[in-house]
Amino acid sequence: MATKTIERESLCPLEGFDRKQRLIRVQPCHTIKGDYTDGVIRPVEKVVYYYIAVCEKCKGPLVYAAETDDVKNNFAKAELLYPPLRKLPENIPKKIAKYYEIATHAKRRDDPKTFAMNIRMALEAICTNLGVPDHNDGGKGFKNLGPRIDELAKKALIPNYVQEMMKDLTAGCNFGAHDRPEDERVDPAFCSMIDDFFNAVVQMIYVAPKGLKEFHDRVQAAKRQAKQRKARQRSNVKY
Ligand SMILES: [Zn+2]
Repeated sequence: MATKTIERESLCPLEGFDRKQRLIRVQPCHTIKGDYTDGVIRPVEKVVYYYIAVCEKCKGPLVYAAETDDVKNNFAKAELLYPPLRKLPENIPKKIAKYYEIATHAKRRDDPKTFAMNIRMALEAICTNLGVPDHNDGGKGFKNLGPRIDELAKKALIPNYVQEMMKDLTAGCNFGAHDRPEDERVDPAFCSMIDDFFNAVVQMIYVAPKGLKEFHDRVQAAKRQAKQRKARQRSNVKY
């Protein structure tokens, strides 16, 4: 396949900047998947095309995946597989996801100050989203993030342990957000801890409650089905 002249301009996750990326190879991969429609398993052949590219600046490898070998039209739209880019789950409010995206790009390019500031802004956006805006946005005199987090817990919008986690995160990010002596700036090695901790907070607020409800509903439905099956079996028994 002639791939030498096909390029895209997008984020190089290895550096955290937009870069020109050149496609160097397309590798089709044939797999057999199961189609489970109507409870019957039918094998379905699927082809995934792996687009292997190189960043023109750092020369690092990038791997994308797509369902077509029409690279000219699809290289720019293909999904990045490597290096993996940490993203928040789909149902997270857009503003929070955007701050997090900016933060992760900053982390990649070793800019802990921008990283910490954007994680802090994401925490502020969580407060607004859950119903405690700041004083500029209709909040009752809440100028600082700490009291807004406390208000979330007071209104039982978050559990107490999430309140503690959010306040620790705020303190961690404050090292990077203020004009303080160099030794109080956020340590780049500390960024990964803040990143993991922020993801845990997001999971507990936006993901776990929804997942728990879905799981509960599923268990209840399975219980009902089992009960109906038993009742049917009983009615079929002949004496
Ligand atoms: Zn690069």
